[in-house]
Amino acid sequence: MKSTVGVIGGGQLARMMIPPAISLGLTIKVLEEAQGMSAEIAATGVGDYRDLDTVLAFAKTVDVVTFDHEHVPQHVLHALVDAGIPVHPGPDALLYAQDKLLMRQKITELGLPSPDWAAISDADELGDFLDAHGGRAVVKTARGGYDGKGVRVVDDKNGADDWFTALAEDGRGGSLIVEELVDFVRELAQQVARRPSGEIVAYPVVETVQKGGVCAEVIAPAPTAAEPARAADGSASTVSEVARDIAVRVAEGVGVTGMLAVELFETRDGRVLVNELAMRPHNSGHWSIDGAVTSQFEQHLRAVLDLPLGSTRPRDPWSVMINVLGGPVGETLQDRYPAVTAAYPAAKLHGYGKESRPGRKVGHVTVSGAELDAVLADARAAAAFFEG
Ligand code: ADP
Repeated sequence: MKSTVGVIGGGQLARMMIPPAISLGLTIKVLEEAQGMSAEIAATGVGDYRDLDTVLAFAKTVDVVTFDHEHVPQHVLHALVDAGIPVHPGPDALLYAQDKLLMRQKITELGLPSPDWAAISDADELGDFLDAHGGRAVVKTARGGYDGKGVRVVDDKNGADDWFTALAEDGRGGSLIVEELVDFVRELAQQVARRPSGEIVAYPVVETVQKGGVCAEVIAPAPTAAEPARAADGSASTVSEVARDIAVRVAEGVGVTGMLAVELFETRDGRVLVNELAMRPHNSGHWSIDGAVTSQFEQHLRAVLDLPLGSTRPRDPWSVMINVLGGPVGETLQDRYPAVTAAYPAAKLHGYGKESRPGRKVGHVTVSGAELDAVLADARAAAAFFEG
């Protein structure tokens, strides 16, 4: 059996693949960008993921290549495939997690619901979209955005001029995306895992709360997900069924292998719209480490190795995950462990081994239990302890 997984990128997602790899008796190797990253303990190489020779040399030491992030360039990915190395997710799927414009086109082509959107290449086109959408809209760069960088609300046709200029200077040209500013009641995320041979399993849909463009809090499963929503074909269904159906159709439609997260908006009038895609374990699934029978990290490993997938059943009625952001430089998460563990013995703490910097994700806390209010309160209180 193939049993050596190579992960490109040494961040916390790679780090959290290590414990299940150990449990399953797999070998996991990480190509980290620099020494001392989050997944250092499994690093067998340090190098630039944009450099073909570096990536190829690393890939030749493993049975399957997967990722901590979506930034490996297409030409590098295709070269690995051409060299006969299994790459999961493959380049043709990953494209839709790398480029939001191609993603929007694909989601629309698959008949799945997006916010109203358009590709725009100058201020006049932005102006036309604004005129047709009440004077406010969201502009996004197709590539290179994360955690809300590359996303901007504009109410003026010149509000994205700097990005148009940057695109022109880049020489490659290309367009920005403009989207209707969705008046959502909440954001959701639906995760599924898909094996190369086709098996798919779905996690319960979760509610995600963003602060400053960064995921702050996740409630699993999303409260009131059993309430009615409108499916893409207009038929009535529940929020959780609609979300699962969308994610399964995306996974099959683009041929994802491994974990897929579909970020969603739930609107006031009961629609569920696709925001964006992530093809790797995702922040919205960290609760599953402690809260589900099979964590998203174990599931990802099983999926990329084409092993039968595990149960996604929650262990408790509710799990709440709160991200811990870095505070003052110099103080570590561990400094606060004694106080937090004493006050919240049921809280599960996860540190990413990263240096603390204001606003940087340095860990997370998960609390699970039977009463949502109590679980939420404990998780928030435990996480707040870390942030002082
Ligand atoms: P990133 O790639 O940085 O995560 P996203 O496209 O997910 O960027 O956008 C970040 C956040 O901005 C979303 O989680 C949401 O809160 C808000 N947002 C994005 N698109 C829209 C939209 N069309 N309408 C309203 N809010 C949006």
